[in-house]
Amino acid sequence: MAGVLLISEVSGDQLPATTAELVSEGVRLAQQLGGGALSIVLAGKNIQALGSTLGQLGVEKVLLAESQAPTPPSPQWVLSAAEAAAKQLQPDVILLTHAGGTRDLGPSLAYRLNTGIVTDSTALRVDSGDLIITKPVFGGSAIAEFTISTSPKVVSLRPRAFESAEAPTPREAQVEALTVPDTDGAIGWVPPSLQVGLTGATVAPDLYITIGISGAVQHIAGISGARNVVAINRDADANIFKYARYGVVGDWKQILPAFTQRLKELRG
Ligand SMILES: Cc1cc2nc3c(=O)[nH]c(=O)nc-3n(C[C@H](O)[C@H](O)[C@H](O)COP(=O)(O)OP(=O)(O)OC[C@H]3O[C@@H](n4cnc5c(N)ncnc54)[C@H](O)[C@@H]3O)c2cc1C
Repeated sequence: MAGVLLISEVSGDQLPATTAELVSEGVRLAQQLGGGALSIVLAGKNIQALGSTLGQLGVEKVLLAESQAPTPPSPQWVLSAAEAAAKQLQPDVILLTHAGGTRDLGPSLAYRLNTGIVTDSTALRVDSGDLIITKPVFGGSAIAEFTISTSPKVVSLRPRAFESAEAPTPREAQVEALTVPDTDGAIGWVPPSLQVGLTGATVAPDLYITIGISGAVQHIAGISGARNVVAINRDADANIFKYARYGVVGDWKQILPAFTQRLKELRG
């Protein structure tokens, strides 16, 4: 067995309770699987201080994926961090929490690694070397057991279904920085905090550049304070042009390169 890799998205200087549950189950599972290495990738912002604390919980290796972005890391970035860690460590089992943003992370990661996943597990055990994954099905009216025939086996754990026990052997964890591949330009979900408009943020910048934005009333509701709106849209009748001080009708793929080139020239 090549060991167990845990994936945890964190922010700030506190480990979430779900990370402790994940580590505790990881310690137990790594032992049952024959003592393979237990590693964790922590993905987030301002997480440097957290690495060393994980050794106390029984983790051997910590990969720190520290985001430098001003906003919280996007799900796409966290996915890239998890994929990079999985490819580097080649674990046999990957565990993560089935909650919040990580609900999407598990299936996306399994797809990227071309392997199987069982989500929302409530118990794990090893039987004759096989990982048996238990989860409630049919709305909780039945309990099913699964195995995964591909490797690595990705399993997401239901929060609070697993106890965070004391680490049997606290140790000095080996802490390394993980380089996350550049995900700029990748298409993916972003947090609602990045949305501008009725349900998103209200902004009031000096310059607001919209690229391929139609100008729906729900979006306009968030930008009424913007002093100069510049719109790039290939539809000359797009509503956004009613609110734009400057507008360019055309394909952004042609317009943006010339636009950024001119900006660079002006900035010297
Ligand atoms: C209750 C409610 C709340 C909502 N809250 C918000 C909110 O807070 N913020 C928000 O933004 N939306 C909100 N919406 C959604 C809103 O109604 C619109 O659906 C959304 O704003 C449309 O986003 P869009 O302009 O990116 O996409 P679309 O309306 O699909 O427009 C895409 C535009 O891109 C242009 N385009 C496409 N390809 C190119 C190209 N190659 N070059 C140049 N132009 C191109 C098209 O001509 C089109 O005008 C809300 C909706 C509801 C019902």
